[in-house]
Formats: sequence, C-alpha cells, structure tokens
Amino acid sequence: MDKMVFQAIRFAADKHRDQRRKDHRRTPYIVHPVAVAELLIDAGITDTATLIAAILHDTIEDTDTTSDEIRALFGEEIAALTVELTVPETGIKELDKAREISDALVLSPKAALVRTADKLCNLADVLLDTPVGWTEERRDYYIVWAQKVIVSSRVENTLLNNRLFELITTAENLFGKNFSVESLL
Ligand code: ZN
Repeated sequence: MDKMVFQAIRFAADKHRDQRRKDHRRTPYIVHPVAVAELLIDAGITDTATLIAAILHDTIEDTDTTSDEIRALFGEEIAALTVELTVPETGIKELDKAREISDALVLSPKAALVRTADKLCNLADVLLDTPVGWTEERRDYYIVWAQKVIVSSRVENTLLNNRLFELITTAENLFGKNFSVESLL
C-alpha cells in the first residue's frame, strides 16, 4: 500500500479531530472516511488517487482544509477530486440536497466511485444506528435521497450495486416500507 494513503489518514484524522459522527456512540469522524476507502477496496478499487480522495472527501467541506493545502501534500489530481467531492452549502437544505443529486450526474469516474461509496456508508450508518434526534420522516427521506445520489453517480461496479440492494432490502425489512429504486422512478 502506498505510504501516501497513511499520510492521508493521518492528515484527515487531524483535520476532523474535533468532530464526531451523529450516532449514539459519537464515533470519531475519521472512522467514516476510512470506512469509505475500505468499501472501495472491497469493491476492487486499487487506484491510490481514488482511495486517498475517499479519505479526504469531507476535509474541505467540513474542516478548515483548503484545496491548496491538499495540492501541496497530495498533488493536483487528488486536490481536484477532493474539490469535486465538496458540496457547496447554500444554507438552504432542500437546495443543497437537490444540488448533490444533479452534481452526481457530472462527476468524473473516480469522484463518482467515492460519492457512491460515501452514500453507501452513510446509508448503512442511518439504518444501523440512526443519528441522534432524527425523526422517522428524516430517516426515510435520507434513504430515498441517498439512493438518488447513488443512481445519479452511475457507477457500474457489481459489489457496490449489490451493497445498495442489500441495504435497501435491510431498510425494507427493518421499517416495513418500500424503498426500492424502482419506486423512485
Ligand atoms: Zn462523507
């Protein structure tokens, strides 16, 4: 494994040091980007830039990290991917959510892989340990929205596609509702 992957984990762990996931155990934030990279490895992705972009994907969006900082440490390609994966926030939630779906349609192939793995990890988190304070409506909305982002990313990877199917089946069994992609079209 490329040493730069570990450098990225250290960098992201430090940047996210004061943040926690929204689950009941208040998991340290870094567990999430590492899980995204791990899922990509499970899916057969070996490209170092993609794996590092997975580890860094929330740094610009959620911390004080700049693209210049990433460019200086990890090079142009990874900086560009991280910028691509940063969702600009307008402060209007519905707009940001809609934007993430439309933006997914034009992601580069490497960014699309990270986006898909990101949403799959978040979906798993929402199903298995729904964030503190979320209502049933918010949870159901998230399950549908995350699928739309994944479908819009148009990644063709059997493992990732199967993972989505498994998660949606789990959601349907857990919550007794129809969340299938077909029901969204
Ligand atoms: Zn993420």
